[in-house]
Amino acid sequence: MHSAAARAKSGLSPLTNRTTRTYNGGSQEEIRQKSESLAVNAVVEARLEQALDKLKRNGIRMTPQRFAILSYLQGTKSHPTADDIYRALENRFSSMSVATVYNNLKVFIDAGLVRELTYGDQCSHFDADMSTHYHARCERCGKIEDFSYPPLFHIESAAENETGFAVTSHRLEVYGTCRSCRAISQH
Ligand SMILES: [Zn+2]
Ligand SMILES: [Zn+2]
Repeated sequence: MHSAAARAKSGLSPLTNRTTRTYNGGSQEEIRQKSESLAVNAVVEARLEQALDKLKRNGIRMTPQRFAILSYLQGTKSHPTADDIYRALENRFSSMSVATVYNNLKVFIDAGLVRELTYGDQCSHFDADMSTHYHARCERCGKIEDFSYPPLFHIESAAENETGFAVTSHRLEVYGTCRSCRAISQH
C-alpha cells in the first residue's frame, strides 16, 4: 500500500516512472494519471499565462482563434503540424482554415513563443515548449518525442570559433523507431 502511494506520488514527474503502467489493474494507475495530469495542467496554465503576457507586451492582439491555437499547442507534447491543429479545432471555428492556423503560428513564432521544426517534406511541426530540449523522431510513424539532455552550448562556441558565425541556436534530433512501432513489429 505504502509503495503504491509513493508510486502515485512520484508519477508527478511526467517523464519518469513509466514502469507503473501495468500496476495492479487500474485504480492506482488512475490516481497516478490524475495527479500527473493535474501537475501538467498547472505547468501548462502558468506557461499560457506567461505567453499571453508576452503577447500583450508586444502589442499583439489576442483573438479566440489565437487563444485556442496557443493553448492547444501548449497543452500537447505531440509537436503537431498546422494540419493537426486545424483538425483539432475546426469544429469550434467556422472561419478557420489551415492557412489561418499557419498565419497565427507565424505570429507566435515571431513573438518567440513557438518554434517551428521544419522537415524536408515541407511538413513543419510546431512546439510551444521553448526550453532547450531535444527531439527523437520515429522513422516509421513520424512521431516526435522530447528528451532532455544538458544543452550543447559548447558546440555553439566550437562552431563560432571555427566559422566566425554569431551562432543563435542549434537543433539536434535523434532518429529511430518509437516504443509503439517497436511493440507492433515485435508481434
Ligand atoms: Zn513510431
Ligand atoms: Zn519538443
